[in-house]
Amino acid sequence: MNRGNALREGREKLCQAGFDEASLEAELLLRHVLKLSRAGLYSSFDESVSPGDFNCYLELLSRRLTHEPLAYITGNREFYGLDFYVDSSVLIPRPETEMLVEEAIRIGLQLDSPLICDVGTGSGAIAVSVARNIPEAKIYAVDINQNCIEIARKNALYHGVERQITFIHGDLLSSLPQRVDIVVANLPYVKHGDVESVAGEPLVALDGGASGLDVIERMVGQMRYHLNNGGSCLLEIGEGQHTEIVGMIRKQLPAATIKTTRDFNGIERMVTVTLPLVNP
Ligand code: GLN
Repeated sequence: MNRGNALREGREKLCQAGFDEASLEAELLLRHVLKLSRAGLYSSFDESVSPGDFNCYLELLSRRLTHEPLAYITGNREFYGLDFYVDSSVLIPRPETEMLVEEAIRIGLQLDSPLICDVGTGSGAIAVSVARNIPEAKIYAVDINQNCIEIARKNALYHGVERQITFIHGDLLSSLPQRVDIVVANLPYVKHGDVESVAGEPLVALDGGASGLDVIERMVGQMRYHLNNGGSCLLEIGEGQHTEIVGMIRKQLPAATIKTTRDFNGIERMVTVTLPLVNP
């Protein structure tokens, strides 16, 4: 069996099972087994695949055919141009979350040595991406799940930013040792009733309770005690949630400035809450 044929076989299996991106997924699995870059694979289709590697590839294909997420099978996912280790204890970083990182970097670069909190850090994707882009930033990465802390620490070490990040095993903002300038929050926001459709990933990272907003609401309630005057909180939200969330924040923080921003699909995805510079 040569590499080209192995790729074709994988593509056919996935295609027959209705996977939209059969070609790409077969390629990623084969490259993972053979430890090859895209160029490495595409320039060596005629080379043979050893029986051991081929069996391994078939095994990964059959895991994918049971709908295990590709990122958990290969153990990595790219986010903000960086490679992150992931396993089934963390949410797989999503491309739409990159807009929170971009905005945190934009605001953070205007401050001297900004203090930033990534609340519900999961794989550490947000904390690490921000740290890499603001060398003066000091970042608190918080998660309720100790497993996530270990994975986020591993990703921070891999990207050489472990000295910028303090990891905290705690509940939302309650364990922060000092006030911060920016809070970045990709908290669970899927309605409890809808959560099964995205199963495979940790429910604790997705399930936002009956309304979808339970966790976000609790965190917004803590903001006034943990965010500096003039500080900002960047929240990721789900499709169609912006009106309800903005109303909830207005009620809790009447003096704050609130802005919503659409993602690349035109969905209102990010809420920016900025506290007034002085206490009203
Ligand atoms: N965007 C994720 C999804 O659609 C949800 C992430 C979250 O709840 N923070 O599954």
